[in-house]
Amino acid sequence: VADAAITPEPLTATERVRLRTDLIAERERAEERLTSLRRSIDELVDAADLEPPDDEHDPDGTTAYERAQVISLAQETSSVMDELDRALKAVDEPTFGTCAGCGGPIGFDRLSAVPTTTACVECAAAGRDPTH
Ligand SMILES: [Zn+2]
Repeated sequence: VADAAITPEPLTATERVRLRTDLIAERERAEERLTSLRRSIDELVDAADLEPPDDEHDPDGTTAYERAQVISLAQETSSVMDELDRALKAVDEPTFGTCAGCGGPIGFDRLSAVPTTTACVECAAAGRDPTH
């Protein structure tokens, strides 16, 4: 458990490498998730094509609802991937790990937990994170 009173330190080179590795792994996971979600959408669309939706008489009328849910999950995953892409581009910039709210270091612990964040704990808590 991080002590909130400890001032975060700027990232070391080693920490930066670890964060980049984490980001790449997380992006791969997000991409896999998105691929499988898109496959589900295709299957649900196919199912809907075979059996046109009939809200009143279709006893299996969950398909449209299911599809809407999977589509919204896919959109969510795709925006997570955008954030990860941004973070991956930023990770090699000298400004990476610097809080967009106060200009102080975000700290490795927080970046490790939330690699796409651009604000330190205090700024995020105060709603000063411009990306969230
Ligand atoms: Zn800050």
